[in-house]
Amino acid sequence: MSLQITNLHATLEDGTEILKGVNLTIPKGEVHAIMGPNGSGKSTLSKVISGHESYVVTGGSVTQDGEEILGKSIDERSRGGIFLAFQYPSEVPGVSNANFIRAALQARLPKGQEIDAVAYYKNLYSKMDHLEMDRKFTARAVNEGFSGGEKKRNEILQMMMLEPEYCILDETDSGLDIDALKIVAKGVNAMRSPERGMLLITHYQRLLDYIKPDYVHVMAEGRIVRSGGPELALELEKDGYEFLKEPALA
Ligand code: ADP
Ligand code: MG
Ligand code: MG
Repeated sequence: MSLQITNLHATLEDGTEILKGVNLTIPKGEVHAIMGPNGSGKSTLSKVISGHESYVVTGGSVTQDGEEILGKSIDERSRGGIFLAFQYPSEVPGVSNANFIRAALQARLPKGQEIDAVAYYKNLYSKMDHLEMDRKFTARAVNEGFSGGEKKRNEILQMMMLEPEYCILDETDSGLDIDALKIVAKGVNAMRSPERGMLLITHYQRLLDYIKPDYVHVMAEGRIVRSGGPELALELEKDGYEFLKEPALA
C-alpha cells in the first residue's frame, strides 16, 4: 500500500514545464520529507498530487494503493483519502469550523448514514485538547481572521479529524514561529501510523527538528535529485544546496 509517483511531468497552463519526471514512493507507515531550493517545484508537486487544476499533467502517473488518481477531481481525491495542508489556508466565510469538518466527514460516509453529533463533538474536543486549541475555535468561521499559527493549528485539527490515508504538508516559505512548528509536529507525530503515509515538504530543516522522517529527498529543477535517511537533512542544513552546482551532478 503506497502513494506512488512515477515519472511525473507537469506544466503550467502556458506550457512551462515545472515537474520534469518525478519518481517517489511513499508506503503506508512511512514519513518522507522533501526539501530543496525555492522554486524547485515542491509546492507544484503537492498540488498536482492533490488535483489542483492550474497545472497540466503531461506524463507519468500517481497511484494510490495501485489505483491511478490523476484523472480524479480534487474533491474525489480528498474523499478518497488524500489530504493537502497549508498551501491554501483558505477562508470559508460564514461556515464554522465545527460544521466545516462535520460536513467533510459526512461527505465520506455512505449515503443515508448520519454522523452521531455527540460522538462527533467528543472526538473534536479531544483532538482540540491535544492541540491545545481553545473551544471558541469551533464556532469561528474557518480561518477567518486567524493568525498564521492559528490557521496551521486548524489545518492539523482538520487532518486529525479526517484521518486521511496520505497526508501532504507543504510548509510555505513564509516563516512560521516555533510554536506553530511545534503544533504541526505534535499533530504529525500523533498521526504517524502503519495505516498512513506522510509527505512533509519544507524549504528549511527546522520542521525536521521536531519530526524525524524515515526518508529525506531533495528536489531541484523539477526532479528528485537525492534521497537518503534523516541525516541528509542535517547535512543539507550544514552545507546547503551547493552540491547541486557540482559538475558531477550537472
Ligand atoms: P517550490 O515550492 O519548490 O518553491 P513551486 O512549485 O512553488 O516551487 O514553483 C516552481 C516554479 O514554478 C517556480 O519557478 C514558480 O515560479 C513556478 N510556478 C509555480 N506555480 C506557478 C503558477 N501558478 N504560475 C506561474 N508560475 C508558477
Ligand atoms: Mg516556493
Ligand atoms: Mg513551495
